[in-house]
Amino acid sequence: MTAYDDQNIFAKILRGEIPSFKVYEDDDTMCFMDIMPRTDGHCLVIPKTPCRNVLDASDAQLAAVMATVKKVSNAAKAAFDAEGISLQQFNEAAGGQEVFHLHFHIHPRHSGVPMRPAGQMGDMDAIKGHAERISAQL
Ligand code: 5GP
Repeated sequence: MTAYDDQNIFAKILRGEIPSFKVYEDDDTMCFMDIMPRTDGHCLVIPKTPCRNVLDASDAQLAAVMATVKKVSNAAKAAFDAEGISLQQFNEAAGGQEVFHLHFHIHPRHSGVPMRPAGQMGDMDAIKGHAERISAQL
């Protein structure tokens, strides 16, 4: 398996080298907003320690990340009065992964409302507001 590259964008966010809209943080995990949101409230949960994805993550990293995924999913569902939550998680380029630091996508969902296409930069003021709405539920 390819080695972890500590120059990936999420490693830089963890080190505070580039900004993010933080939603939640504990000793082992962090959640921040996706800047190309495919749904309102689209956020990402990552471990604070290095791993590329599920394939090389330790059981402890996975357990910590999933506990935060559950916590933030419930907060996001409440914040957006959502009917459901979609989780996405990709492994290696062939599996759809673009940033090689383990992450889970959290998407608040409403019946009949499709996700937006990937790769469209969001409105930063709106994303900031969405982060605050989720944080307020935590
Ligand atoms: P994946 O690796 O699961 O395909 O997706 C990576 C995600 O990272 C994408 O949804 C993309 O919008 C998001 N992303 C890419 N660059 C940045 C960035 O600089 N900051 C944040 N917050 N998200 C990013």
